[in-house]
Amino acid sequence: MASPQEPDFDVIAIGAGFAGLGLIHSLRDAGLSIRVFDRASDIGGTWTWNRYPGAATDSEGYYYCLTFSKEILDEWSWSERYPGWEETHRYLHFVADKCDLWPHIQLNSEVVSADFQEDSGLWVVTTADGATCTCRYFISAMGMISEPNVPDLKGVDTFKGPCFHSSRWPQEGLDYAGKRVGIIGCGATTVQMLPVMAETAANVTVFQRTPNFVMPAVQKPMTPEWEKEIKDNYEEIIAKCRNHVFGMAFDSPVGRNLADTPPDEVQAILEEHWPRGSFRFVFETFDDLLSNAESNKVVSEFIAGKIRERVNDPELADLLTPKDYPLFAKRPPLDHGYFEAYNRDNVQLVDIKDREPIVAITEKGIRTDADEYEFDIIVLATGFQAYTGAPEAVAIRGRGDVTLKEKWATESASIMGVCVADFPNMFLITGPQAPFANLPTSIEQNILWITDCIKKMESEGYGVCAPLREAEEAWVAETAEIHAQTLMAQGDRVNSWMMGANIENKNPRVLIYFGGANVYYDKLRESVAQGFPELAFERAAN
Ligand code: NAP
Repeated sequence: MASPQEPDFDVIAIGAGFAGLGLIHSLRDAGLSIRVFDRASDIGGTWTWNRYPGAATDSEGYYYCLTFSKEILDEWSWSERYPGWEETHRYLHFVADKCDLWPHIQLNSEVVSADFQEDSGLWVVTTADGATCTCRYFISAMGMISEPNVPDLKGVDTFKGPCFHSSRWPQEGLDYAGKRVGIIGCGATTVQMLPVMAETAANVTVFQRTPNFVMPAVQKPMTPEWEKEIKDNYEEIIAKCRNHVFGMAFDSPVGRNLADTPPDEVQAILEEHWPRGSFRFVFETFDDLLSNAESNKVVSEFIAGKIRERVNDPELADLLTPKDYPLFAKRPPLDHGYFEAYNRDNVQLVDIKDREPIVAITEKGIRTDADEYEFDIIVLATGFQAYTGAPEAVAIRGRGDVTLKEKWATESASIMGVCVADFPNMFLITGPQAPFANLPTSIEQNILWITDCIKKMESEGYGVCAPLREAEEAWVAETAEIHAQTLMAQGDRVNSWMMGANIENKNPRVLIYFGGANVYYDKLRESVAQGFPELAFERAAN
């Protein structure tokens, strides 16, 4: 039973990106005091850390945004279809200025631990400088792809030049013009980075383990006509995101399966949609690409054909073509000239899976078992400890003296990705076993649920809400059952971050709810309507 001890803040959250800013707005409106800590020197989260060349959104910018204020939607203008990191970062500053969010944000403050106090029902939050403060509600808003995965490569400290993870691109910038650059990894980050770097670097060498199904982004400038059309229809666009399996403003389902369409029509439809760009290609062509193995194969072969068309050297094209996993078992990147970059004389691909594995990083560069490559700069574009990495990096201790990291050692269990049994009064934004979708849409839906839960507690005089173990077991089981029925289950074989399988010494696990983001958002609203049956509420002592 909680005692009525007064906390320093009603709410403390970690992370001043989209989630942290949205939380401040929503919870302040609900009459709560909130402090958001961030270890970065600026707000922006992903968009302050990921400053690598070419970093841009893969969602179309006009719905990769916060939608709580019509004024902000009307006043902000995006310059292109996929805004670069600088523009997205400026947008988040605009939101913070406009909504006067800054007084609630404490930058350069890394939270190192958070401890639930059984006697008071409060959380004690400690920052790296040793300062502590208390709150009733503690929220992880640290992002689901934010904690780097830095592989344990032999000799990594011996390299003489800059060598860093892609999401730790030097904040002051890095002049790579005329330099020899080595990039380890070829996921969405490298797909964006390579074509831009190749333009001015002396040469760029990509060390590839697994190729990706890369689809065209098709960048376009925002025209006044397009902007007017968007702004005249924002309500409909937001509703589309809310009701879409991937949280995107797409026109799907389309009511057509590839399996039921004659092959020549299939090819015509795929050809028609390919040049339009974006993940729309997957969602606005056929409804069965991610559920029917044969349909998935057909579209995978179509993409392979496009790779062959664009890469001049057939052997190289073959190396760049995925062969042993279905489309979407790894998150497909969007392309801004990735394959064309390999047609340049100054770009090279090294197959480190079958031909020449990396042996070590050396003083001069990267040594494989066949050669030594000399570089001035090495970028580790090796991905992230998705979903769990960031909360696990903070010593978050709930009931029974167990940390979140300990709890998640074998299974990253949660209830709808928003709360975890044995961690009372703690919430996650897009935690494990939430869907993978357009992030601002999911973030806003999570914020609504959290705000409604806290409002209930405040208005009904509860001191503690404890996520129920049975509810967690049910969500884990449902998530696993849905996953098992999808083609994504075949992704167990690949090193997909979507299964946590990209992390050495970590057992793959179901990190994503694959039942559809729209279904998940409905479930969150049902939970609110039913008074949060997943939680046990305990009254505060008078
Ligand atoms: P990623 O997709 O996980 O790719 C990491 C790459 O590093 C893979 O090619 C991986 O090979 C390789 N790798 C990992 N450990 C390695 C090791 N020990 N030795 C050699 N190679 C190794 O990471 P990412 O490109 O940073 O993208 C991660 C996610 O962030 C994306 O899927 C996306 O959701 C998000 N992202 C979004 C955007 C955007 O929306 N604009 C941009 C960038 C990233 P394997 O595949 O064989 O494991």
